[in-house]
Amino acid sequence: MSRNRKDPTRVVHAGRHPEQFHGVVNPPVYHASTVLSPTLADWEQKDRDYAADKPGVYYGRHGTPTLASLEEAIAELEGGYRAMIYPSGLAACACALISYASAGDHVLISDSAYGPMRRVGWRLLSRFGVEVQFYDPLAGAGIAALMRPNTTVVVVEAPGSLTFEMQDIPAIAAAAHQRGAMVLMDNTWATPLYFKAFSHGVDVSIHAATKYIVGHSDAMVGVVTTTREAWPKLKETHVDLGQTAGPDDVYLAQRGLRTMATRLAQHWQSGLALAEWFARQPAVERVLHPALPDDPGYAIWRRDFLGASGLFSVVLKPVARNALAAFIDGLELFGIGASWGGYESLIMPFDPSPIRKVSRWPYAGPAFRIHAGLEHIDDLLADLQAGFARLNQP
Ligand SMILES: *Cc1c(COP(=O)(O)O)cnc(C)c1O
Repeated sequence: MSRNRKDPTRVVHAGRHPEQFHGVVNPPVYHASTVLSPTLADWEQKDRDYAADKPGVYYGRHGTPTLASLEEAIAELEGGYRAMIYPSGLAACACALISYASAGDHVLISDSAYGPMRRVGWRLLSRFGVEVQFYDPLAGAGIAALMRPNTTVVVVEAPGSLTFEMQDIPAIAAAAHQRGAMVLMDNTWATPLYFKAFSHGVDVSIHAATKYIVGHSDAMVGVVTTTREAWPKLKETHVDLGQTAGPDDVYLAQRGLRTMATRLAQHWQSGLALAEWFARQPAVERVLHPALPDDPGYAIWRRDFLGASGLFSVVLKPVARNALAAFIDGLELFGIGASWGGYESLIMPFDPSPIRKVSRWPYAGPAFRIHAGLEHIDDLLADLQAGFARLNQP
């Protein structure tokens, strides 16, 4: 489709081919393992096409039109070459990292990257002779000082999971590329709509589609998009690890995608309104949201991002545990839970200190992450106001 169209239009149309399915608007859910060939010649042709990496339907594990629809849509929206689907966001993170790291390589991972992704580095990759080093998320161009002749991958995530540091991705990418390393980004927070990874030097962009793409807290899917140069390795490793995802979950992801632009605009607006409210409360030490003008990451967010999603964190001043419990337990609209990106608001307490390797978490008070859902902002604010009344007067 025309690259000139705006994202909300492309989100609606990318990867959809009703003409191939009797005019049906959404791609059918193909449940498949065996794919039959009518003749020997067809079987042999498919063999050649598969070896040549031609898109097609060869075997259930290698994808069906249900998966192809989502892959095509994400690649187009993000401006990458092609995309690949995984059974979860973490599977996408792990497989992407494994694709580009071999024994003897040195890999740099941001100290604010998604915790389980960092664990893939220090626990899994290190078993296979890859040296994994964590770096300060705010290193920027200074990452050059950490690069070694055998550095092959730099992992970035902006803003960082839980702690929301903004990374200067173009600066990091320039330093990495100068030394022949590639840049892997977890782009889940911004989605393909709010950060155009490939125009900022990223080679491989990872999404937990579980979050905003699925958008309804009811399926787990991961997607990785790459440049043309990075594609063959990703594809090869995907095949070797036998990765695929269930067709029903992938269907839900492509279905969720169609409304994502509209949902995101609301998540952004509500998230910012909640963040501004928290910032005014005397009990709050700091709000971690890169779209707040006094956030240290604001300048980078303004420069590189096209929007903000509804996920941010709040650090409280030190407070008694029963006061914190009174605040959180009494909330009526914010569920206590992991994951995010659905239509419902969430709150999740966290302490990043134990998993920090090279950067210090400076706060003594408790922290929690907020996902602003699609409820009316007045009701969300009223719920928090009542919650802070309990916090201050448990
Ligand atoms: C949730 C999340 C993941 C993992 O996704 P799952 O689908 O839960 O496996 C990866 N990266 C980030 C930034 C996430 O928030």
